Amino acid sequence: MILIISDTIIQSFIEICGVENVQNSTAARLAYSYDATANFQALPDVIISPRNSEEVVAVVTICSEYRIPIVPRGSGTNLSAGTTPTSGGVVLLFKHMNQILDLDEENLTITVQPGLITKSLIDYVEARNLFYPPDPSSLKISTIGGNLSENSGGLRGLKYGVTKDYVMGLEAVLPTGEVIRTGGKLAKDVAGYDLTSLLVGSEGTLAIITEATLRLIPKPSYKETILAMFASIEDAAETVSAILAARIIPATLEFMDQGTVQVIEDYKQIGLPIHCEAVLLIEQDGAVEGVRQDMEQIYEICSQHGAIEIRNAETEQEAEALRSARRDALSALAKLRPTTILEDATVPRSMIAPMVREIKRIAMKYDVTIQTFGHAGDGNLHPTCLTDLRDKEEMERVEKAFEEIFHKSIELGGTITGEHGVGEMKSPYLEWKVGEAGMLVMKAIKTAIDPQNIMNPGKVFAKSTKERLVMHHV
Ligand SMILES: Cc1cc2nc3c(=O)[nH]c(=O)nc-3n(C[C@H](O)[C@H](O)[C@H](O)COP(=O)(O)OP(=O)(O)OC[C@H]3O[C@@H](n4cnc5c(N)ncnc54)[C@H](O)[C@@H]3O)c2cc1C
Repeated sequence: MILIISDTIIQSFIEICGVENVQNSTAARLAYSYDATANFQALPDVIISPRNSEEVVAVVTICSEYRIPIVPRGSGTNLSAGTTPTSGGVVLLFKHMNQILDLDEENLTITVQPGLITKSLIDYVEARNLFYPPDPSSLKISTIGGNLSENSGGLRGLKYGVTKDYVMGLEAVLPTGEVIRTGGKLAKDVAGYDLTSLLVGSEGTLAIITEATLRLIPKPSYKETILAMFASIEDAAETVSAILAARIIPATLEFMDQGTVQVIEDYKQIGLPIHCEAVLLIEQDGAVEGVRQDMEQIYEICSQHGAIEIRNAETEQEAEALRSARRDALSALAKLRPTTILEDATVPRSMIAPMVREIKRIAMKYDVTIQTFGHAGDGNLHPTCLTDLRDKEEMERVEKAFEEIFHKSIELGGTITGEHGVGEMKSPYLEWKVGEAGMLVMKAIKTAIDPQNIMNPGKVFAKSTKERLVMHHV
């Protein structure tokens, strides 16, 4: 284990951010050596918590001079090994940069710092009758900086879109220490390349986001929630297609397979149905009349497509219990075995039934346990494998199973990741999706902005097609 950062450099960081905001004890380094992704771990050399953009600039300027890798980190809830420091260096935390800087009710925008917790933003605007729709299931812990950098989606993605649809402007520190401002409070702005869109979803590999101006919309005044149960996955999938074909775009259209429902029920005991093969959680929001009309039609479509039971949430409390049951799917599954690997293979929504069937077949072929839930409305599935990292032979089968799942989703017109990002974990598979020319363009962008490769190195681009850096540095 070689420390690449000298004491003199550490001292410079301390002078910039204060001694309490620069940590390099073994305990601290170990704490930031992993994130929510199973099977990936790598040690940073130092963890720094700047208090403002100026301190970020000063830290980055030193890193640039000495070619020190920088790993920006929100809450570390990403599921693609996006914050494991593959080449050591600095982990940058934004715990002090978590403020709401400006709410502009005339332009319907909010400007925030990257360390703000997603739910704090949502609650703040909803209390003012405004709405920020992106709602990843991790919203109680994830940060806006992480959401922006992964372009996170959530339960409301089908109707309202994902994080990128709400980003209007950014302040970002480039790997040289220079600061750029993109976009702004402008509904229209076509001045040059769209750098805002380039930075959203760039997984900390191009720049450090230090401020974001986000678009708000009026809060829907009314909402209804139902749970529909089906004897077969096909019935549930056909229901999804039929609802959309009826020109209804529900606010939420979530899918859980029998195994997932069973585990959530064991975990939460809220009376979820465990006798059916598939469950849809469906919500609509908007003006009362419109919502009632849509929900009546949805009810009818569910019945026509073989729903064996439909439950109405009578109160907001009941609705929230159903929503949080779905949000807790991963936590519930994670209790079953030592290691949980959650993927987000995504297919066109017309391909949900074939994909779910394929996942089942592949799990049987490799004799591994995989349960599936996800955002049925947008084809974003979460095949979740329950396994044990210590069992090398089983892990090999798990890896093969996921490779086949990625292949299958691309074959069905889908992608290797709908919302979790590429990170280190899926970097060996990126070329399958974007092709050789796509890789060349992406690499050219990376090299133009970060020629020294100090921004989150080892992420997005794999060194070779099948390279996985497991448990290095430690
Ligand atoms: C239980 C659970 C449920 C989840 N549900 C969802 C879901 O429904 N939808 C979904 O999309 N994802 C989901 N995720 C994945 C994860 O929560 C999201 O990717 C989230 O946006 C990560 O936020 P974070 O603050 O934890 O970021 P981190 O994990 O710390 O970082 C994520 C990426 O952003 C980069 N980054 C962080 N801050 C900055 C910054 N200021 N500037 C530049 N780069 C930065 C990091 O380098 C890294 O590449 C879930 C995860 C868990 C554990």
